[in-house]
Amino acid sequence: MPNRKSPRSRVTATNSNTRVSTGQLPRRAVARPTPADVPRPANSNTRVGAGLAVRKPAEQVESSSAGRDLSAEAAFEGLRKRMVQNLRDTGITNERVLAAMQQVPRHRFVDEALASRAYENAPLPIGAGQTISQPWIVARMLSAVMGGGTVRRALEVGAGCGYQAALMAQLFPQVVSVERIRVLYDQARERLRSLGITNVQLVFGDGRAGWPAGAPYDAIVVAAAGIAIPEALLQQLTPGSGRLLAPEGSGNSQQLVMIERLTHDNFRRTELEAVRFVPLQSGVKL
Ligand code: SAH
Repeated sequence: MPNRKSPRSRVTATNSNTRVSTGQLPRRAVARPTPADVPRPANSNTRVGAGLAVRKPAEQVESSSAGRDLSAEAAFEGLRKRMVQNLRDTGITNERVLAAMQQVPRHRFVDEALASRAYENAPLPIGAGQTISQPWIVARMLSAVMGGGTVRRALEVGAGCGYQAALMAQLFPQVVSVERIRVLYDQARERLRSLGITNVQLVFGDGRAGWPAGAPYDAIVVAAAGIAIPEALLQQLTPGSGRLLAPEGSGNSQQLVMIERLTHDNFRRTELEAVRFVPLQSGVKL
């Protein structure tokens, strides 16, 4: 299968995506896709899926650049469609995951300077030396973690920019997401808030311990690679149906691993494709 190897390269932090947003609702100038990115024909459908408060028409009327913002959002929606088609073409079949990826505006989770690249199947820097995973691997992990049955409560370790948490919010009723870098945590919180997402509990802390207060979880997704999957996370899976997806290993030698908790004491481990994630680190960074 193409794209097996996930080049989650550790991009040096060249972007300036470390500021914390202060505005009430997104008032920033909307970054626009470059003409070459704009799909043909330009899609004029500006509707955004239920649950996501993105660019309501009433808000746009207030702005003098409303028309341009509207067309930029329409162009981004077209790019999302193309991204979702690419995901289908490369083996992603879970329709709920594909629908969520069509809904969540990935360009709103990266620095404006990178917005035009938000729908490429590529990892992108998100500040603090971290990267957002390429869309294919995000779709792959979410599809796999949903394969065990109905997910009511889900945990993410490594909220980063909040993009995957926003997807999980579309898929699962209750989501807890833990991030250890303060500036990323603050930014993710602001982004989720500005999109009207209320079913994600963002936690600042070391996610290697999970978040016992919210356990058990039907699904756990770890977005950073550790040498071994922390035992605390396994213990927070729902016995009988809980599933965890995590990259294991370090540097160039990492494997995506799926753990199913079959009974209280019985776990099944399946090794999936080679991947490349940023490291799972200990402690927090203020
Ligand atoms: N899911 C994220 C991916 C971010 S990259 C997104 O959609 O953007 C992985 C993230 O894991 C980084 O933000 C990094 O700071 C975080 N991380 C690494 N070790 C962690 C730990 N022990 N606890 C919580 N977060 C951790």
